[in-house]
Amino acid sequence: MLRVLILGGIGDAVELAIKIANIPGIEVITSLAGRTREPANLPGNVRTGGFGGVRGLTNYLREMQIDLLIDATHPFANQISENAAAATQEVGIPRLMVIRPPWEKLEDDDWLEVEDNLAAATTLANRAKRVFLTIGRQEIGTFAHLQEIWFLMRMIDPPNTDVIIPPGLILCDRGPFNLENEQEILLKYNIDTIVSKNSGGNATYPKIIAARKLGIKVVMVNRPPVPPGKQVADVDSACKWLFDKLDISLQNGK
Ligand code: NAP
Repeated sequence: MLRVLILGGIGDAVELAIKIANIPGIEVITSLAGRTREPANLPGNVRTGGFGGVRGLTNYLREMQIDLLIDATHPFANQISENAAAATQEVGIPRLMVIRPPWEKLEDDDWLEVEDNLAAATTLANRAKRVFLTIGRQEIGTFAHLQEIWFLMRMIDPPNTDVIIPPGLILCDRGPFNLENEQEILLKYNIDTIVSKNSGGNATYPKIIAARKLGIKVVMVNRPPVPPGKQVADVDSACKWLFDKLDISLQNGK
């Protein structure tokens, strides 16, 4: 039996857990940070909450006798990915990162690429009036000083009460989103600029297509670096990697 820990928090991790949960010889545990109030239904075992840094994760991997770790976290969740790299190295177990490719700028896109949310906020000052802010809820405070700008802020759950909120409107919604709705939102709120993380994938891409069609600027926050290690671009490739590991473990009589 191979015990697999999936670090989750996004749709790819759910899809992966569903694909491998009923495979004989594999036992799945998905770990969630616990940020979302109503996470998606997951098969197999689920644990929730931080591990307590590298040391906590290392202890968890040992105590639970995890054989393999698949890091299927969001491309911007770089702290947990760094922790996973260090902890799996310490314990000596294989680790795979599932990293969907970033979106590429097309000819008709009007993108300004920046390295983080702080740079995005700096860019907006004196350039934008009505902004669709789609970076989630954790870092909206970075934009709170921009009192001359009106923000439409979309996130899954409302922000914590201790966060200073930029002027504007909060829209709680969860992807996937469709092109028609995204166009409607941009027109209804008279948006001139979108701020987006370069998350990749299809679920939140329609807003980028809508911006292209309507000639709206996008401030695109580029991804943080990933730790070194084996990576694949999609869930099917992750399954293949896992099946290869399962074959090896069966050959070794585990
Ligand atoms: P982060 O900065 O990389 O992680 C911060 C801390 O949260 C980690 O050190 C860890 O705490 C805990 N943590 C993160 N992911 C975890 C997981 N899957 N299981 C257990 N603990 C976890 O991550 P983040 O950007 O705050 O994102 C949190 C979660 O939301 C991630 O699972 C990610 O996949 C998901 N998510 C993030 C974004 C985004 O834009 N960042 C978007 C969509 C979904 P300890 O050090 O105590 O272990």
